[in-house]
Amino acid sequence: MKLFSEDIVPLRPLVMAGPCSAESEKQMLETARALKRTGVRIFRAGVWKPRTKPGGFEGIGTPALEWLAKVKEETGMLTATEVANKQHTQEAVDSGVDILWIGARTSANPFAVQEIADTLAALPQEKRDSLTVLVKNPVNPDLELWIGAMERIRRAGIERIGAIHRGFSSYGVHLYRNPPKWRIPIELHRRMPDLPIICDPSHIGGKRELVGPLSQQALDMGFDGLIIESHCDPDCALSDKNQQVTPEVLGVILDSLTVRDSNTQTESLGVLRNRIDRLDDELLELLAKRMRVACDIGRYKKEHAMPVVQTGRYNDLMQRRVADGARLGLSEEFVQMVLAAIHEESVRQQLEITSGNHR
Ligand code: PEP
Ligand code: MN
Repeated sequence: MKLFSEDIVPLRPLVMAGPCSAESEKQMLETARALKRTGVRIFRAGVWKPRTKPGGFEGIGTPALEWLAKVKEETGMLTATEVANKQHTQEAVDSGVDILWIGARTSANPFAVQEIADTLAALPQEKRDSLTVLVKNPVNPDLELWIGAMERIRRAGIERIGAIHRGFSSYGVHLYRNPPKWRIPIELHRRMPDLPIICDPSHIGGKRELVGPLSQQALDMGFDGLIIESHCDPDCALSDKNQQVTPEVLGVILDSLTVRDSNTQTESLGVLRNRIDRLDDELLELLAKRMRVACDIGRYKKEHAMPVVQTGRYNDLMQRRVADGARLGLSEEFVQMVLAAIHEESVRQQLEITSGNHR
């Protein structure tokens, strides 16, 4: 399924770019003209802006739709904006916006997504056929909620649906504004292999200097495209100024990206994959063996009226394994994640034993 009309020949990779927010006619046209010169064919700009706290710039609203229409008329670019309710959706469609996206705060709310879906369902078939709807991941790392939001849009009779991965909210200060948790979009791709997935390095990174490296990472992981915030004067942007790049910088970033899409299957790749398959078999057998020992321990704990979880033992084991892992070149985060999953399953099985429900 093509995401956009056939006559659009996007850059390789597919790139959507434009300012976080539509601020003025001048800002919109200046940015759009410069983006067009770099080859970008799809222009994004937020007309309505969901802000974390009141009092910030909440977007110009309805009057900014006219500026998007001007961009389209003058440059011939496709236009995209965020919608969060019935009024936004109806007005954006009526003013000829080609692509609607559902933001991360909205896709976390099934009532709001359903309201948008109901508005779309009431559009004439022709309109629904030509409209593209992109659904950002919800702010919380919940894959089912993300899939559910896309399912609501699909049931409204929209066929051109894509996902945008923009990272997930988290508490505290991190390298990334919204840590990517790549496992989630990778799992989405496994579950829905035909769904186009676009990466939003601007909102993941939150900083200009991370846009390039994150874009390359996304391409290397097989994402179908990028949505990048670009502003003609980022330092004066009314929202998200730290992560917006000028169209000229965007051009440099896009030129530096390497698209690795060769699918050559040589014999040596086959040999390596066989080796991986065998190692995975061994890993599974080892895990099963480890679970059997954990169950023996569970039975011992039951006979001796011992509690299943002994925090001291768990902490010792974790510390030792993390150090062993580091010597083997495995990162602390990875070892902790794997061991936590194994430990959780052992505890679950031991609890079944102590409660007498174990098979
Ligand atoms: C945006 O794209 O400007 C935006 C508000 O993004 P998100 O919904 O990902 O926070
Ligand atoms: Mn933004």
